[in-house]
Amino acid sequence: MAAVGASGGETVDPAGAQRYAAAWTRAVRRLGFVPLSAAETERLLLGHTLRLAEVLLSAEEPAAAAEEVGRSLVAAHLTEPGVIEWSIRTLGERFRTEVLAVAGPPDLDERLAVMRGALAAGFAGALRERTFVQQEGIARAMWQARDDAEQALRDSEARFRAVFDGAAIGIGIAAADGTIIDVNHAFADMLGYPVEELRQLNVASLFHADDAAGMWELYQELIEGKHDAVRVEKRYYRKDGSAVWTDLAVSLIRHDDGRPRFTVAVVEDITERYELQQRLRFQALHDPLTGLPNRTLFFDTLAGLVEQPDAPGRVGVCFLDLDGFKAINDSLGHALGDRLLVMIARRLADCVAEQGYLVARMGGDEFVILVDGVTAVQDVIAVAESALAAVAAPVSVGDQQLAVSASIGIVDSAVAGTSVVELMKAADATLYWAKAEGRDRWAVYDPERSARDTARSALAAGLPLALDRGEFVLHYQPIVSLLDGRMLAVEALVRWQHPELGLIGPDRFIGLAEETGLIVRLGEWVLRQACRDAQRWHTEFPDAGLVVSVNLAARQADRPAIVDTVADALASSGLPAELLQLELTESAVMGSAGEPLRTLHRLAALGVRLAVDDFGTGYSNLAYLRRLPITCLKLAGPFVEGIRGTEPDDADHRDERIVDALVRLAHALELWVTAEAVETEVQAERLRALRCDTAQGRLFGPPGPAEAIVARLRDPE
Ligand code: C2E
Ligand code: MG
Ligand code: MG
Repeated sequence: MAAVGASGGETVDPAGAQRYAAAWTRAVRRLGFVPLSAAETERLLLGHTLRLAEVLLSAEEPAAAAEEVGRSLVAAHLTEPGVIEWSIRTLGERFRTEVLAVAGPPDLDERLAVMRGALAAGFAGALRERTFVQQEGIARAMWQARDDAEQALRDSEARFRAVFDGAAIGIGIAAADGTIIDVNHAFADMLGYPVEELRQLNVASLFHADDAAGMWELYQELIEGKHDAVRVEKRYYRKDGSAVWTDLAVSLIRHDDGRPRFTVAVVEDITERYELQQRLRFQALHDPLTGLPNRTLFFDTLAGLVEQPDAPGRVGVCFLDLDGFKAINDSLGHALGDRLLVMIARRLADCVAEQGYLVARMGGDEFVILVDGVTAVQDVIAVAESALAAVAAPVSVGDQQLAVSASIGIVDSAVAGTSVVELMKAADATLYWAKAEGRDRWAVYDPERSARDTARSALAAGLPLALDRGEFVLHYQPIVSLLDGRMLAVEALVRWQHPELGLIGPDRFIGLAEETGLIVRLGEWVLRQACRDAQRWHTEFPDAGLVVSVNLAARQADRPAIVDTVADALASSGLPAELLQLELTESAVMGSAGEPLRTLHRLAALGVRLAVDDFGTGYSNLAYLRRLPITCLKLAGPFVEGIRGTEPDDADHRDERIVDALVRLAHALELWVTAEAVETEVQAERLRALRCDTAQGRLFGPPGPAEAIVARLRDPE
C-alpha cells in the first residue's frame, strides 16, 4: 500500500490488484492446507501483490523483492507445490494486465522473468531451510530420547544395585535350573558364605533333609512355572553347620513369552522370632516344675491317637496319683514337696524312656503315661507295674528318706472307649478303685463295675428327693417264740418304692444313705413310722404286747441327738417305750473309738430294748458286753445257715457248737437270743434244742406290709 501511496496511486490499478490477490488467495486455499484464515491470507497476498507491482515499476533491482516474497510464502506455511506454480505462472501477462495501470518500463517482461526466477528461488531456498531445520529438530529430539532412555536404565540399575547391596534382607537370584546368579551381602552373611562362593552353588544344595515335606517339590513346581510365588518358613544350615530359620519368599520372573527365566528369593532371618515361638509353644505344652508334657499336650496327643479317622488304634492310659502326697506336702513343706514331684517325674520318664511312651503331669501329684501300640491289656499293666516300682524306690529329699507309693488306674481303649473324654473318665474312676482297694496298686477299668458305680451314684443322687416325696415304705417281719411260735415282735425293714425301678431292697441303698449321711433323716423317718404303726397295733391288740424292732445305723447311733429323737418318736406316737427295740450293729455298739457308746445307757434309760444285730460277724468285746444295757443278741444269718442238714456233717457240727456257745453266753449275760434267717423246720428244731429263744426268717413269715401284720394279729393261727 505504501508503494501505491508513494507512487501516487496512478501506476497500480487498486481494484485490479484486489482482484489479483483474491484469485491468488483462492488458488492458495484450493491447492492445499492454509493455517491462516481467508481474510488474513488475502491481506498478506494483497501486500505481496502491491510490493511486486511497485518494484516492477521502479528502478529497483527486482530479484531481491521477489525472492523475499517467495520466502514469505514458505514462512506463512503456503508451501504446497501448486501454490508456487500458480504464483510463478500468473506473474507475467496476467499480472501486468490486471494489476498495472500503466505500461511500465520497456524491459518489463525481462524484469517479470527475473522476478519469477527469484520468487521460485526464494521459495525453494526457504523451503529447504525449513525442512532442514525440521529434520534437525527431529534428529536432535531422537538423540535426546535415546540418551534419556539410557540414563533411565542406568538410574534404575543403580537404584536396584543400591537396594540389592544395601538391603538388610537377603536377596538371591537364581537361573531356572537353580544355579545361583547373584546374591547380596545380607544373603551371604545370613548363611555364613562369601558372596562368590554362593554364586557357584545351586539352590538345591542349600535345601536340607529336615525341610518341611513338600518344600522341595514346591520349589520345583515354581521353577516349572506352575506357581508365580512361594512363601515358606524354612531352616537353612549355615556354612558352619548352625541353623538359621528364615521366612523365604521366592518369585518367578518369566520371559516375554511366559517361559520361566529366573527366580528371585527374598530371605529374612527369623531365627529369634522362631525360637521365641518355639519357647512359648514349649511353655504352653509343658509343666514348668517337672518339664514334663502338660495335660494339654497329653490330651492333644491322645486325641491324635484315638479320635482321628485314621487313628492308629489301641492305646492304654496309666493314670497315676501319689498316695498321701498331701500329707508329705503338709509335713515337709511345699519346696520339698516340689522336689519330690520333680524326682518322681524323672523316674517315670526314665522307666518308659526306652519305649518312648509319653509321660505327662496332669497337675498336682497326678501323672499319666500314654501307652501306644497296645495289643493286650497286659502291655499296659506291665507299664503300670514298672511305674509303681519306679515310684516305690526310696527317695531322699533334703535329709529325709521317704517311702512313696502311688495308685494307678489303667484303661485300655479297646474296652474303655475311643474318645478322650470317655477314656479319661474311665481312668479317673479306675484310679479311685485302686485307691479304695488300699492304694499302692493298680486297677484295670471294668465297664460292668463302672456301670454299677454309675447306677449306684444315680441312686444315691435320687435318695433325698425320694425321702421328700415319700417313696420309702416299711415292711415288717415277724419275730416268733421258738417255744410256742407266738409272734412276739416284728422287725421294721425299709424299702424304696422307686418310680422306675420298682421296689428296691435296703441292701441297695442303706449303704449309700450311710455314705451320704442321708441315713440320719431316713432312719428318723423309719423310727417315727414304725412307732406310729406299732402304736396302732398296740391300740387295736393291747394283749399282743407286740414289740417293734427298728434298725439303727452306726451313723445314727453315734449322734447324741439320737436319744432325743427316740424320746420324741415315742412321745409323739404314744408308743410305750418297752414296745420299741433298737437293733444296733456290733460296730455301732462299740462306737467308732472302740469304746462302748455312752448314749446306750441314756437310750436304755428311756426304757427301750437294745439288741445287737448280726451278732458274731463283728468284733464285740465280750467283757464290755456284760456291762452294756443290752437285752437281746440277734445271731447272724450265716450261723443259722450252717445248721440246716438232717444228717449233720462236720461243718454243721462246728456251726452248731458255735451257736450253742453263743446261746449259753447270752443266757449267762441274761440276754435273749434271736436267730435270723431261719428257713427250714430242721433249723428251727435244732435252734429250739439249743435253747434259742426267738427266731425270724422265711419259715415264720417273710417281711410284708403293715396290713399283713394286722391280719396275723387278728388271726394268730
Ligand atoms: P437285718 O437287720 O439283719 O435284717 C434282716 C434281713 O434278713 C432282711 O433283709 C430280711 O428280709 C432278711 N431275711 C428275712 N428272712 C430271711 C430268710 O429266711 N433268709 C434270709 N437269707 N434272709 C432273710 P432286708 O430287708 O433286705 O434288709 C437287709 C438289711 O438292711 C437289714 O439287715 C438291715 O441291716 C438293713 N436295713 C433294713 N431296713 C433298715 C432301716 O430301716 N434302717 C437301717 N439302718 N438299716 C436297715
Ligand atoms: Mg436288723
Ligand atoms: Mg440282722
